[in-house]
Amino acid sequence: MLRQQRMRLPLIKPLRQRHLDSEPRETAELRQLDKAHLWHPFTQMRDWCAPDHDPLVIVAGEGPWLHDSEGHRYLDGNSSIWTNIHGHRHPRLDAALAEQASRLAHCSALGFTNGPAILLAEKLVSWIPERRLPRVFFSDNGSTAVECACKMAIQYRQLQGEPGRTSFLSFEGGYHGDTAGAASLGGIGTFHDRFRGTGFEVRVLSEIGQLDTMGREAISGITAVVIEPLIQGAAGMRRWPPGMLRQLGDWCREHDVLLIFDEVMTGFGRTGTRFAGEQEGVVPDFLCLAKGLTGGYMPLAATLTTERVFEAFLGGPDRTFYYGHSYCGNPLGCSVALANLEVFEEELTLESLGPKIERFHESLDAYFGSHDSVLEVRRIGLIAGIEIGPFPAEARMGARVCLAARRHGLLTRPILDTLVLMPPLCSTGDQIESMVAALAAGLEDCRLR
Ligand SMILES: *Cc1c(COP(=O)(O)O)cnc(C)c1O
Repeated sequence: MLRQQRMRLPLIKPLRQRHLDSEPRETAELRQLDKAHLWHPFTQMRDWCAPDHDPLVIVAGEGPWLHDSEGHRYLDGNSSIWTNIHGHRHPRLDAALAEQASRLAHCSALGFTNGPAILLAEKLVSWIPERRLPRVFFSDNGSTAVECACKMAIQYRQLQGEPGRTSFLSFEGGYHGDTAGAASLGGIGTFHDRFRGTGFEVRVLSEIGQLDTMGREAISGITAVVIEPLIQGAAGMRRWPPGMLRQLGDWCREHDVLLIFDEVMTGFGRTGTRFAGEQEGVVPDFLCLAKGLTGGYMPLAATLTTERVFEAFLGGPDRTFYYGHSYCGNPLGCSVALANLEVFEEELTLESLGPKIERFHESLDAYFGSHDSVLEVRRIGLIAGIEIGPFPAEARMGARVCLAARRHGLLTRPILDTLVLMPPLCSTGDQIESMVAALAAGLEDCRLR
């Protein structure tokens, strides 16, 4: 076996070298192999595999830039699907990863512990007002962070002698991930209707006012409510009315319903503060983090909770939280996440965000504020959703505009006819304005055709 593997090495090596070259011939070969074997997420593969579709092969990154295999450079306008924070190839993050890789890539968190996981947990806790969420459970992605919170909530009720409290409240337009449990909380028809009834027991609310119409009986079956605080991402960047989070927090406290904040998108400065919940002074019972946790480097997630929840699980084997994943507390992920948080402090990332956000919002106003083809510009911090229209859905204008924007040096991805911009926090004011300008130019190209 070993011999065979060794013999294969020389074959692999030239292929890798060719991959690093950026000659069109190799790109064509990679594209062909992609179409032969890869199944891409959220993608109609018939269109993807069509002969006239030439997917970009991304080969390198630097700061807010991505480079393709044909020598083009683009601004990463959606932070590589909402994950990147300090830019690609940040020297501190690269070094943390390389240093940890030179010691140990992975060991199990079942029965052992490791320094990076411990230090990261401590650092995360210090980021929460008054350290009110002192317990950290690591997993792999946003979906598992939410899944984990839900299972903790259900078991917590059992341990408290309330086994009937098994159902959840969530909101229309909500997105909490794609594993069965997390998806069952979702409120986006296209993604979620198909799998209704396969996960948790959930009531999807259309607005917060519905809480007041719920009787004692109904409330007594609810364990927790889950929400994306301040802004719903996958729904097309939809903001909640100001004060709503406070209201929800008060309602939860009054009715002893647990509160789960899904800050998978909003966490780590994206809305202008460390976490979105801070802006209305609400600390939830569970805080779910992923995407930006490692600065966009590695798949890692964390579910933070209170001492009260944690303590309920202490006792005999019957009180154990039987949940976990093979890569829980992965040292590579944790060390790069720790570096990510340290860079926030060393580079005063949040402190320097104000002028960038201002420039972003000014640019959005300038390019899209009174535009014939723009219905609404929704934004907070370094997140924007520009809803264009009215266009017939089959025109797929959102997708066409984003494709056209590539020619102006921007990569991003729409949600139907909402153009999304989410610059990495490291972007300069000029780069941020260039992103907005490129998107506007893309829209212009499509309108002219
Ligand atoms: C992306 C996202 C998730 C799911 O995270 P994955 O890492 O893709 O599983 C959950 N909630 C929100 C708000 C998200 O934006």
